[in-house]
Amino acid sequence: MRLVDSHCHLDFPEFASRIPSILDAMAANDVGHALCVSVTREGFPGVLALAEGHANLFASAGVHPDYPEADEPNVADLVRWANHRKVVAIGETGLDYFRLKGDLEWQRQRFRNHIRAAREIGKPLIIHTRSAAADTLRIMAEESAREVGGVMHCFTETSAVAAAAIDMGFLISFSGIVTFKNAAALKDVARSVPLDRMLVETDAPYLAPVPHRGKVNEPAYVRHVAEEIARLHDTTPAAVAAATTANFFGLFKGAARHPENSRAAA
Ligand SMILES: [Zn+2]
Ligand SMILES: [Zn+2]
Repeated sequence: MRLVDSHCHLDFPEFASRIPSILDAMAANDVGHALCVSVTREGFPGVLALAEGHANLFASAGVHPDYPEADEPNVADLVRWANHRKVVAIGETGLDYFRLKGDLEWQRQRFRNHIRAAREIGKPLIIHTRSAAADTLRIMAEESAREVGGVMHCFTETSAVAAAAIDMGFLISFSGIVTFKNAAALKDVARSVPLDRMLVETDAPYLAPVPHRGKVNEPAYVRHVAEEIARLHDTTPAAVAAATTANFFGLFKGAARHPENSRAAA
């Protein structure tokens, strides 16, 4: 079995000086690779350093919608940051009307800039959407996001939203939330998404899955997400791992191109 954690934040302070043990735990739990996702301009060098320092870690370039005071990137900035062999995606980007209120036009403009950068450099998008599904899908359509595709990460919306994103060529990524006992509606959504359109992730250090709920999350725990998806789809964790790992390397072609990963991508 070979899993990929499609979304984590290993540059966050929770992991400072713990990277060797985090990587050991990944190996012990059949988690071969992880994608370290950028949230600010200041944080991006740390994300890139992780990917440069470890063959099985990848990076993305972007500024998260929950950082209103962040140094605003324009399209050229994003394209420049992403022009690196270990940067396999643009994001995370998107809309979040749950965490932030008021006039969020800046958030929508930031999202449009990320989609334009992704199309310019030809790398897929990592999209965060919370309480903003209609606007997220509308902007994805208006900006032709389907040209590059990507993933709706840490998905917590409805089956209809998942289907609309899949129609635009996007994958749906489930996090540890799907293991929570009170997540019955999301478990139904996960049942509705075909395995060949799905990724698994931790969003570490947040959202640790059962049985680690409440602790600091880490990529090794993505196996608990895969086990829950297997239960919901009445299949084996190995089948979920095979599908989601193939989907990961199929979407993030920059990751599959590295010779050290050719076996994982096969
Ligand atoms: Zn997110
Ligand atoms: Zn994230």
